[in-house]
Amino acid sequence: MSLYDSDEKVNQVIEAFTELHQCTHCNAYFTELANVGTWGCRYHPGKYNYEKDEYECCGEKPMNHSNYNNFAAFATWKHKYTPRLFSLGCKRCDHRSPASKVPYKDIKCEKIAQLIPFMKPPLEKRNISKRDTSLVRKEYGGCPTRENTLA
Ligand SMILES: [Zn+2]
Ligand SMILES: [Zn+2]
Repeated sequence: MSLYDSDEKVNQVIEAFTELHQCTHCNAYFTELANVGTWGCRYHPGKYNYEKDEYECCGEKPMNHSNYNNFAAFATWKHKYTPRLFSLGCKRCDHRSPASKVPYKDIKCEKIAQLIPFMKPPLEKRNISKRDTSLVRKEYGGCPTRENTLA
């Protein structure tokens, strides 16, 4: 591998981590450099159960407009239009965007060693798996229907 190739790779990594993205879940703007392992967003690890009308992870049910905004007086209007409102999720995770070139999975710290000095908040304040020192993208556990309980 020539020096040029490795410089090119380093530049690609820097570019991927400093591009601005908008989170498709909460609409926040972020760069992966500021995002990875900080868990600034939330998600539901479980599926939505349409029969029970709730999330399988935490049992969250949709809030209707009346108890969300105390619009109980608008009963007739409420029956015509009942938007389904949910929280962003019961578990924490990183922001995510399909436009990001950084895959949404745990990242080994050594793979992005050249970026670590530029991280704010610093690496030690982020969520790192002690098992293999990778930055962890989401909080696991709490979901009996998925295999994502902490290994
Ligand atoms: Zn949930
Ligand atoms: Zn987000």
